[in-house]
Amino acid sequence: MRKINFSAGPTGLPLSVLEHAKTEFTDYKGEGYSIMEISHRSKTYEEVHFGAMDKIRKLYGIGDEYEILFLQGGAHLQFAMIPLNLSQNGVSEYANTGVWTDKAIKEAANLGINHKVVASSEASNFDHIPDVKFSDDADFAYICSNNTIYGTQYKSLPKTKAPLVIDASSDFFSEPLDFTNIGILYGGAQKNAGPSGVTIVIIRKDLLERTPKPHTPTMLKFKTHADAKSLYNTPPTFAIYLLDLTMQWVLDQGGLNGIKAINAQKAAAIYDAIDNSGGFYKGHAQKDSRSVMNISFNIKDSNLEPIFVADALKNDMLGLKGHRHLGGIRASIYNAVSLNDVKTLVNFMNDFAKKHG
Ligand SMILES: *Cc1c(COP(=O)(O)O)cnc(C)c1O
Repeated sequence: MRKINFSAGPTGLPLSVLEHAKTEFTDYKGEGYSIMEISHRSKTYEEVHFGAMDKIRKLYGIGDEYEILFLQGGAHLQFAMIPLNLSQNGVSEYANTGVWTDKAIKEAANLGINHKVVASSEASNFDHIPDVKFSDDADFAYICSNNTIYGTQYKSLPKTKAPLVIDASSDFFSEPLDFTNIGILYGGAQKNAGPSGVTIVIIRKDLLERTPKPHTPTMLKFKTHADAKSLYNTPPTFAIYLLDLTMQWVLDQGGLNGIKAINAQKAAAIYDAIDNSGGFYKGHAQKDSRSVMNISFNIKDSNLEPIFVADALKNDMLGLKGHRHLGGIRASIYNAVSLNDVKTLVNFMNDFAKKHG
C-alpha cells in the first residue's frame, strides 16, 4: 500500500503519473525501447523535451520573451550560475528569508560578487517574510518565494524595476503568477514538478545578452543552454519525461487556477487544526506569512513531537519530521497530496491532541 507522503522533497508524485510511466517503462509507445534508452537527439525524445517546455509555457501563460531551460546541478548550482551570468557593474541585491537564500548569498560572496542583503528575518528565526525594498537599478533582486524549512511564503512579489530572480523550488506550479518584472523563476523539479535530476529555469531573454563574469565555464552560461534548447549536453531524459507527465497532470487538474483552489483548502484545513487546538499545536510562521506548501509547527510539550511522527508513520503518513534546522513537525502538502490525504492528517492531529492534551 502507498503511504501518504508529507516529505519535503523528493516526495510523492501523482499516482496516475507513476502508473502511466509504468505502462511505458520497457516499451515507449510501441517503439520497442524505453524513453531512457534512446538518443536525446532522436525525434522520439525531442517530442518529450519540447512537449514539457510547451506545457510549462501553457501553465504559466508565458510567451516568447522567456526561454525555458532544463539544467542539472539542482537549485544549488543556480546559487552560482545566477550571479555569474547576471551580475554586471552594479549591485546584486538579496532578501534573506532562511537557509536557502543564505546559501545563495554565501555563494555570491564566494564568487566575489558585489552584493547586498537588503532585508532579513533572521532575528526571529525566519518566522516571517520581512518588508523587502530593492533598488530599481540593482543588477538583479533575489528572493526565495517559499521557504521550505520555516513554512513562510511571499503573499505578493516585491515591486522593483530590477529583474526579480525567484527560487521557487518549493512552490513552483502551485498557483498562477504574474510575470511582470520576473527575470528568472527557477527550481529543482523534485518538490512540485517531478523527480530529482532536472532544474527548471525560466529566464527572460534579454538577460541572456548580459556578459557573464570572466572565465565562467561554458556549461555555466545560460546562453549555452538557451542556444542549444537545453540539448547542449545530454539532459536527464528520464527525469524530463516524468516532468512532462507531471505537467500534463497539472493541466488536467484545471491548470494553476484549479491547483491553487485545492492547495488553499488543504492549507486552511491544517492551519485551522493548529489554531483550534487550544495551544496544543503552535505554528512557526507568523500568520500573514504562512505557506500554502510547507507547514512547520511544534507541540507545546516538545517530548511529544517524536511520538507524533512515529504514530503518524504507523498510520501510513510519511515524512512529518521537521527539518534539522528547525526541529518539530513539518507537513509538506505539495500538489500531489490530495485534500483527502490532508483530511486524514487533520483527523490524526485532532485525535493526537485529544489523547495527549
Ligand atoms: C530544496 C530546496 C533547495 C535545494 O534544492 P537542490 O535541488 O537540492 O539544490 C533550494 N531552494 C529551496 C527553496 C528548496 O526548497
